[in-house]
Amino acid sequence: MIRKILFSLLLIFFWAMPVYALDVQVPSEVGRGEPFWVDISSDDKPAGIKVAWMDREFAVPVDLPGEQRVLLGAGLDKTGEHELSLVFDLDGESLEKTFKISVKDKDYPEQHLSLPEEMVTPPQEVHDRIARDREQIRSALSTLTMDRYWEEDFKEPVPGDVSSPFGVQRFLNGQPRSAHQGVDFRGPEGTPVKAVTDGRVVLTGDFYYGGKTVILDHGQGIHSLYMHLSSIDVQEDVFVSQGEKVGEVGMTGRATGPHLHLGVYVLGDAVDPMYLLDR
Ligand SMILES: [Zn+2]
Repeated sequence: MIRKILFSLLLIFFWAMPVYALDVQVPSEVGRGEPFWVDISSDDKPAGIKVAWMDREFAVPVDLPGEQRVLLGAGLDKTGEHELSLVFDLDGESLEKTFKISVKDKDYPEQHLSLPEEMVTPPQEVHDRIARDREQIRSALSTLTMDRYWEEDFKEPVPGDVSSPFGVQRFLNGQPRSAHQGVDFRGPEGTPVKAVTDGRVVLTGDFYYGGKTVILDHGQGIHSLYMHLSSIDVQEDVFVSQGEKVGEVGMTGRATGPHLHLGVYVLGDAVDPMYLLDR
């Protein structure tokens, strides 16, 4: 009799143990400067999902049961082993899944440019301005909005060809400079520049290097940045839809000719936009 009761209790216990059909797919390695996807599939609806990657921790809105994707990336200077952690809140208990992702070195080409000397070595009187510009841009790119505005396929901002790809190691008048943090598209002055995906304008400004600039916050740590514009057509804090005009191609700031510099950032790190653009 006692054995029977114990057996029943045991059965009830196992019956009550929740079984979650939850699967997470991540790449085991990525190249530096590359974005990547985290694919989650689940039959349940967790109350919350927390993601920790590259010293940033953030919650993502739950779009389950079914399938959900999270966009992450590895900065150009982030080679090595990194841990990705996902914490699912399931009926009040948390289930953590951790992954080791190896960020591999990747060769990017060199580019040698000749520019007027004052643009290569900026005069002393603009050093403060450059430092202020950098801080403003860095701060805009580190905003972390929980909502997701981005769509999976980013649309190209201008129709032109790429004149300088992402990651290129630049030499200005023979001096090494930091790697190219975006993609340059050729385009005649005045070509409309369109938002790659939905987002909120977090910063507009006129900077020493970038010239007239727009930065969009696409939510969940994803940003896009548009530089060297001849004009800016949006104001800070407004929402823009994918394909909406944010400005026009120009050559303001440090530019040798009219082009659009497009940057895409994941948690403040520049990644190659070409992986995400639907071209
Ligand atoms: Zn550029």
